[in-house]
Amino acid sequence: MNFELKGKSHDYKIEDDQITISKNKDVVYSGDVGDVTLLSFVKKNVFGAGQIVMSLPDREKVYMDSFRENHRNGFIGLFEALKDKTEFLDLNYIEALKYVKPEVKKEKELQEAAKKEQRNQKVELLKQGFKIVEETKCTCTRCNEVWYCGNQDKLDNISNGLISAGAFMQGKSLTGTYHEQLVKDSNQCPKCGSRAIAKEKVKYWFHEKKGESVEYKE
Ligand SMILES: [Zn+2]
Repeated sequence: MNFELKGKSHDYKIEDDQITISKNKDVVYSGDVGDVTLLSFVKKNVFGAGQIVMSLPDREKVYMDSFRENHRNGFIGLFEALKDKTEFLDLNYIEALKYVKPEVKKEKELQEAAKKEQRNQKVELLKQGFKIVEETKCTCTRCNEVWYCGNQDKLDNISNGLISAGAFMQGKSLTGTYHEQLVKDSNQCPKCGSRAIAKEKVKYWFHEKKGESVEYKE
């Protein structure tokens, strides 16, 4: 059943299971009726106005509109046209305004869980004696050799047996000497001599005594 309503601020059109909401002829939303979630429908509030709240696929915030007496019949018609084709949650108006889409809610929960996990890992690594080390990862754009440059001051006082945390993460041997794997900042590839180098700052959790390295996540 096709439907059309010219409301106070927005116009509604339902045609072949497509809903189009427009304002002054500008389309606000257009898409499958089935993708819309009808959150709340109030026929007449204490001020005599009708209210509708919907969740539209392309926006995070809810969509709401209100209707005065002269649009009441059309408004009820809109509700009738929508309710069988969409999910109708029948929330009260205030709950509907606070509605968060399930996928957004899920995403936020996952982000929270990941943050918590990272905080726990940080506490645990610090307790075990890991420190954050910063290195520069250098990649030769000609031969793809990867090597790491360390902090200059630190390298001048370095003891043998240390290894670049980044090199270690890449599975390079712990028995290699420090300078094979963590070199002073240079602008030349140690393998082919090319000066075409891509540099990137990298951070790792590193335990000097254990010679263990763990990926650092911001
Ligand atoms: Zn190279």
